[in-house]
Amino acid sequence: MPMEILTIPCRTDNYAFLAHDAASGETALIDVPEAGPILAALKDRNWTLGQILITHHHGDHIDGVAEVVATTGAKVLGARSDSHRLPPLDHAFAVDETITVGTQTGTVIDVSGHTVGHVAFHFPQSAAVFTADSLMALGCGRLFEGTPAQMWESLSKLAALPRDTVVYSGHEYTEANGRFAVTIEPENPALQARIKSIAKARAGGRPTVPSTLVEELATNPFLRAGLSEVKSAINMEHASDVEVFAEIRRRKDAF
Ligand code: ZN
Ligand code: FE
Repeated sequence: MPMEILTIPCRTDNYAFLAHDAASGETALIDVPEAGPILAALKDRNWTLGQILITHHHGDHIDGVAEVVATTGAKVLGARSDSHRLPPLDHAFAVDETITVGTQTGTVIDVSGHTVGHVAFHFPQSAAVFTADSLMALGCGRLFEGTPAQMWESLSKLAALPRDTVVYSGHEYTEANGRFAVTIEPENPALQARIKSIAKARAGGRPTVPSTLVEELATNPFLRAGLSEVKSAINMEHASDVEVFAEIRRRKDAF
């Protein structure tokens, strides 16, 4: 049975996620931008928080950890390689380690690029991947620490997940990402259709996160950097996938 996953808007444009395994009654929280909305959602659902899974060290993903721990007593899990700059961890996991939420088994995937040590959590029984600032809806995180090659490798791992996977990313940046994406692929009909549905969702105050891996593969210019149609759209037919990805990332930084 898949987990029930709640998308919780936090701060200006962040998302946190509560993942509840009804079979066992266990609940995990992925990232903690701030405590208030998360504690309110737990109370509303009458869920008991057991674990906090941290994707990376940026303040907008961890600032609420201490308050949530103080209130719930939840255990904090984060990457061993980043433990020096994460809140105190009850369990420092290795990359490729397995995480358990009740009856659900999750895999830790190294998705370095935005930061080195950024991880994603993949729960195949729930067809869910929590990507924070690696793969984002119609975009990817800015390269603060990693190289284009690292981010390309990270995105390639996520692109290889089962096609029915739902992508729970960390920010509501999708509308702006869409404005950039059309400058790379103005002729992509799936992208044009997605931009229309994003505008509709935002006008109605609805989040555009989560998205599906299928729609990201069809429309996200960063995931599509290896395709010949994208290479020729930006006159880089003979460049490597990483070179094309780096160029698209460079253009987005200047957009
Ligand atoms: Zn970040
Ligand atoms: Fe962030």
